[in-house]
Amino acid sequence: MSNIVAIVGRPNVGKSTLFNRLTKTRRAIVNEEAGTTRDRQYGKVEWNGREFSLIDTGGWVVNSNDIFEEEIKRQVSIAIEESDVVLFVVDILNGITDLDLQVASILRRGKKPVVLIANKADTFDLQYQAAEFYAFGLGDPYVISAVNGSGTGELLDEVLAHL
Ligand code: GDP
Ligand code: MG
Repeated sequence: MSNIVAIVGRPNVGKSTLFNRLTKTRRAIVNEEAGTTRDRQYGKVEWNGREFSLIDTGGWVVNSNDIFEEEIKRQVSIAIEESDVVLFVVDILNGITDLDLQVASILRRGKKPVVLIANKADTFDLQYQAAEFYAFGLGDPYVISAVNGSGTGELLDEVLAHL
């Protein structure tokens, strides 16, 4: 079965928070497969009667600041190869960083559909800040809050449209 979706992005943008929200709120079981839990976590998401596998990347135990850029870029390349859709998460509170630009560049070169996610838009006014993310050249940003769940329904509709 295909229908594999991976979450990528630099540390601290809210990838794992989004993973937990999308899997937990759909009552999914997170599979802690031996040997894979160190840098990747797997779960199932159900939405509108359909299902896909969700992979969270970058789940390193160390402090996020210690993670090498090379490892992040490696994970992005793996995600492009293994997934049908890649979710690229950025942080609307922080704006664009150099590492975001590097990840975006890898994603543009890949041949997989990318859904750009502007996370941490906890309040309505923050949505306007998402305009800067058009600079990635990866299409419309989906403005969400992984913490309060806003925007995640539209995001899931978009993901399923690619599967
Ligand atoms: P990851 O390193 O990309 O997996 O990021 P985490 O999911 O571990 O989240 C990093 C930090 O951002 C944590 O303190 C989260 O609580 C916070 N965070 C995640 N999503 C949101 C959000 O939607 N809004 C806000 N305000 N904080 C968030
Ligand atoms: Mg994480």
